[in-house]
Amino acid sequence: MTRFLFQSLSRSRALKALASRYGMRRRSSLARRFIAGETIDEAVAAARDLQARGMMLTLDLLGESVTNLDEATAATRQYVAAIDAIAAAGIERNVSLKLTQLGLDVDKASAVDNLRKILERAEPAGFFIRVDMENSPYTDVTLEIFNTLWRHGHRQIGAVLQSALHRSERDLEQLNALGARVRLVKGAYKEPKSVAFQNKLDVDRAYERMMTNLLAQGTYPALATHDPAMIDRARRFAREHGIGPDRFEFQMLYGIRRDLQAELHREGYRVRVYVPFGREWFPYFMRRLGERPANIGFVIRGVLADR
Ligand SMILES: Cc1cc2nc3c(=O)[nH]c(=O)nc-3n(C[C@H](O)[C@H](O)[C@H](O)COP(=O)(O)OP(=O)(O)OC[C@H]3O[C@@H](n4cnc5c(N)ncnc54)[C@H](O)[C@@H]3O)c2cc1C
Repeated sequence: MTRFLFQSLSRSRALKALASRYGMRRRSSLARRFIAGETIDEAVAAARDLQARGMMLTLDLLGESVTNLDEATAATRQYVAAIDAIAAAGIERNVSLKLTQLGLDVDKASAVDNLRKILERAEPAGFFIRVDMENSPYTDVTLEIFNTLWRHGHRQIGAVLQSALHRSERDLEQLNALGARVRLVKGAYKEPKSVAFQNKLDVDRAYERMMTNLLAQGTYPALATHDPAMIDRARRFAREHGIGPDRFEFQMLYGIRRDLQAELHREGYRVRVYVPFGREWFPYFMRRLGERPANIGFVIRGVLADR
């Protein structure tokens, strides 16, 4: 219910305008807890700070669902510029992106061309590019594009699967067979029951099955979750099966469970933090609020403090 409400609110223009004006204004502003900033310089500063604390990172230039090809071209240019800036800054070369940001809603071929342009710049510079997974109308096409690029020899790319979707265990078999790197998530979107588990317990059970499958048979999987129970199970499974901590990584979102991030790092696990930045931060921010009602209290306190 909360997730649905926040997904609806994320489409509100008035709220977006208001949030854009106040949400990032100061260092203490409410959205800064989850978003590194609006500029690449702010993202690089956040990344340096994380690296100094032993974290790995992936940078995400926020923006999704562009509605025309000019916007998609502009987003592609921004990504290429971000790649150059990341390389120049000397921070870890790893980015995440969304295909709708590159024009998937407008024209699939253009989105693929745009992704290719980004890969042409990123791959020779040693970047790894993770193609984020969006809501279920995009699952097929996202995996199809991923497969096509893989067939064309691109190996510095990775996919994402959501345990919430009924289909994901089948998709996992295919990605494992390719030898592709998979990030496993529970899924951030409200999905219909025709395609997704509606019950959290079912999503968690599927996550656990996919997680153990990935640890046993996957290629350097990324277990992206803040759920301590899942993380414990991963640690135990890895220990029991002699899977060393260099064979997989945990991933968490910027600003969420920083205590757990630090604890895992202290224990010798690899932890990658997903660092979102950019002017189009509103839908991302709303998804994070929708995931956890307690965040709303955090935001209200931030608003009161920010007056
Ligand atoms: C690195 C990374 C990349 C991701 N990429 C994608 C993607 O490409 N596509 C996609 O659909 N989803 C993506 N997600 C989001 C994911 O699908 C979940 O929506 C999100 O991670 C919450 O689920 P959870 O596994 O943390 O567990 P949950 O069971 O939802 O939460 C477990 C615990 O984690 C903490 N927690 C979870 N969310 C929050 C929050 N917002 N604020 C504060 N605490 C929180 C709480 O302590 C909670 O009790 C990504 C998540 C991560 C960590």
